[in-house]
Amino acid sequence: MRIDALELDFFRNYVHLEADFDPAVNVICGDNAQGKTNLLEAIAYLSGVSHRARYDKELIQFGVDRAFLKGELTARGRNFVLEAELHRGQRKALRSNGVKLKSAAELSGIFQSVLFCPEDLYLIREGAAARRKFLDDCICQLRPRYAEALAEYRRLYEHKTRILRDSEEKPSLLDTLDEFSLGMAKAGAVLIHYRAHFVKRLRETAPAVHRDFSGGREQLELRYETVSTVTDPEAAPREIFAQLLAHQEAHRAAEIASRQCLSGPHKDDLIVEIDGNLAKSFASQGQTRTAALSLKLAAREIFQQDAGEYPVLLLDDVLSELDPRRQEFVLNRIQGGQVFITCCEDDRLDRLLGGKVFRIAEGRVI
Ligand code: ATP
Ligand code: MG
Repeated sequence: MRIDALELDFFRNYVHLEADFDPAVNVICGDNAQGKTNLLEAIAYLSGVSHRARYDKELIQFGVDRAFLKGELTARGRNFVLEAELHRGQRKALRSNGVKLKSAAELSGIFQSVLFCPEDLYLIREGAAARRKFLDDCICQLRPRYAEALAEYRRLYEHKTRILRDSEEKPSLLDTLDEFSLGMAKAGAVLIHYRAHFVKRLRETAPAVHRDFSGGREQLELRYETVSTVTDPEAAPREIFAQLLAHQEAHRAAEIASRQCLSGPHKDDLIVEIDGNLAKSFASQGQTRTAALSLKLAAREIFQQDAGEYPVLLLDDVLSELDPRRQEFVLNRIQGGQVFITCCEDDRLDRLLGGKVFRIAEGRVI
């Protein structure tokens, strides 16, 4: 899978960009705040992932009303032209080969990317939300049905939270509570089922990556942690649904008293252990970075197994934060697919890597 060409209009700090990429390595160089991350963000956007922006309108250039992205790519031996038109205060329009798409999830079905950025180096240390986001971003790209269930679950969660919060002043709001619990159990069961299966695949892939990475010294272990009453998270969603619903019903009074959604997949976590110790609490700085990289590179392997080819790998500023041995490990591990790597001028990554070098200044390739 690769992106051959990209065109941007009024995307972030790019007024207009046209670029042709190398099928293997693309090094994006430039000083701070010139548009390196923005370029990776544009590529990631075409794969249906928004990693930085909460809202599409943040992607549109300041003072302008619309932005346009167009990528020409090759996936599964076919050519695609993906386009996105973003408007302020209007729905976005997405197209593949001129045909309208319903959602960003459909972009993921065509084109996939794995992004690794400096914040990810701390994936292990952060709260559970960061690891849930990692799982969600991966699974959304692999399974469109998951993306739908996730959007539905979030919508219901926010609505139910508002009901619980406002119920003291307006008790009649509670009449609809059971309906929301039912919907959340339904969507939640789908989330748990897919997360459990994805973690199972991570368990088959990540420990080997981590072992190589640590020179054969460390053993990584992963475990999916979800609602306590779910006996088998890998079971069919229908079974999980019944257990979730029972749990919510048992906690109905507690939810009303605390005015919060108490249990559900919104509290899930991915437990990471290194040599039997909880990584979040005991791992060293270097170990947490190694484990985080292992998870991301394992995700890339899983995408490859699924699609039959590697997703595009986007490495934002991470190499400069690693020691030379780990840099070399990453560079050896990422052979085989297309990769974009950002760096600052003085890193001299271009010499290390070869490939095509783009120098970015003030939202332009120079
Ligand atoms: P660093 O090396 O510091 O990571 P970078 O080259 O990755 O820098 P970017 O994150 O790509 O920098 O951002 C480049 C510039 O784009 C920033 O100065 C930022 O303020 C600007 N920018 C971000 N969003 C918009 C927008 N919607 N409109 C115009 N400019 C924007
Ligand atoms: Mg950057």
